Amino acid sequence: MKAETTIIENAELYDVKKIREDFPILKKLIHGKPLCYLDNAATSQKPQVVIDAINNFYLSQNANVHRGVHHLSEVSTKAFEDARIKIKEFINAASDKEIIFTRGTTEAINLVAYSYGRKNIREDDEIIISHMEHHSNIVPWQILCEEKKAKLKVIPVNDDGELILEEFEKLITDKTKLVAVVYISNSLGTINAVDRIIAKAHQLNIPVLLDSAQAISHTKIDVQKLDCDFLAFSGHKLYGPTGIGVLYGKEKLLDDMPPFLGGGDMIAKVTFEQTTYNELPYKFEAGTSNIAGAIGLGAAVDYVQKIGQNSISYHEQSLLHYATDLIKEIKGLKIIGTAKEKCSIISFVVDNIHPHDLGTFLDYEGIAIRTGHHCTQPLMHRFNIPATSRASFAMYNTKAEIDKFISALKTVIKEFS
Ligand code: PLP
Repeated sequence: MKAETTIIENAELYDVKKIREDFPILKKLIHGKPLCYLDNAATSQKPQVVIDAINNFYLSQNANVHRGVHHLSEVSTKAFEDARIKIKEFINAASDKEIIFTRGTTEAINLVAYSYGRKNIREDDEIIISHMEHHSNIVPWQILCEEKKAKLKVIPVNDDGELILEEFEKLITDKTKLVAVVYISNSLGTINAVDRIIAKAHQLNIPVLLDSAQAISHTKIDVQKLDCDFLAFSGHKLYGPTGIGVLYGKEKLLDDMPPFLGGGDMIAKVTFEQTTYNELPYKFEAGTSNIAGAIGLGAAVDYVQKIGQNSISYHEQSLLHYATDLIKEIKGLKIIGTAKEKCSIISFVVDNIHPHDLGTFLDYEGIAIRTGHHCTQPLMHRFNIPATSRASFAMYNTKAEIDKFISALKTVIKEFS
């Protein structure tokens, strides 16, 4: 991979040692060795402020939201809605009505497939995704296409793991009714040129959904500038809790969409004859939400903003280039995903060593990486491999950890040969 230097404006170097102090789990020993956590693309660790926010909610704020007139219910409602506003500002949405709390990226994409999809997709219509999608951004569209007798079209990927945009421009036609693509690939680290995809789709008035599960923690997202129509992400990849995520949608589109789930909170009035629905965003938040999760995610957003997203990107890019330069020198190892624009994810295969064996060996050294198909089986088929090993770096990782990882990697390769 060509280690291109990405210029990140207003980035400041930060003291990574100080940042590590904020993450209690990083002090843990695994098999007697210091934890070297390089599985951040699967989920990130949580800073103390996020753990405290969740604790504090259950210790002193817990009550159901929106329904009570009592003090605690007002406190929890305010904390929950404040979290929504923080997220609205974090991604620069035009209104907090456009921020729907979900369980995560998967549920957010399913919401669009079930609600927008069932209303707007008809027989012979086409939906475009790409060859590097996570299963979360494949299967909901497949289910929809099967039900509606619509077609799923796939943007191909080149040998570097980049989308072939010229092919996208050929795939898009007046039959295309939605484009749903991943912003940053979890398996390859590729940062897709989503601005080009959105511009092209909008020429034909086709809405675009961005799977931003990875992008949310690696790059500053401004939904108004991007002009995407839907955007989905999970809290747990952004140093927040599991079980909470966000669907952003343009208000006009969300307004026109029918509810996804029915139940409490999403209604205005219910009679046996007819139900009318609540206004946005509550129309899409049936049942008791993950209140503590939303508050925890709000704390994570505060924390990330305090460190500075540009500084985090700068730090992660320097780790990416440092690790790439070292890893590509290892004989018998091949990096899968050598795009020009990449985030801090390195997938690789090693001759004659199954990724699971490699991952198990590294675990004995306290090094956590991910091995497998990363929920991107079609992409694995594209590269003719069953699986990869994947190291992914976050704001708290260090060059010393990369040295340790590379050294352990060399040892395992030597032992297996
Ligand atoms: N999309 C991408 C690109 C991902 O990396 C992931 C998780 O790894 C998902 C979707 C699904 O996220 P979740 O399991 O949090 O819903």
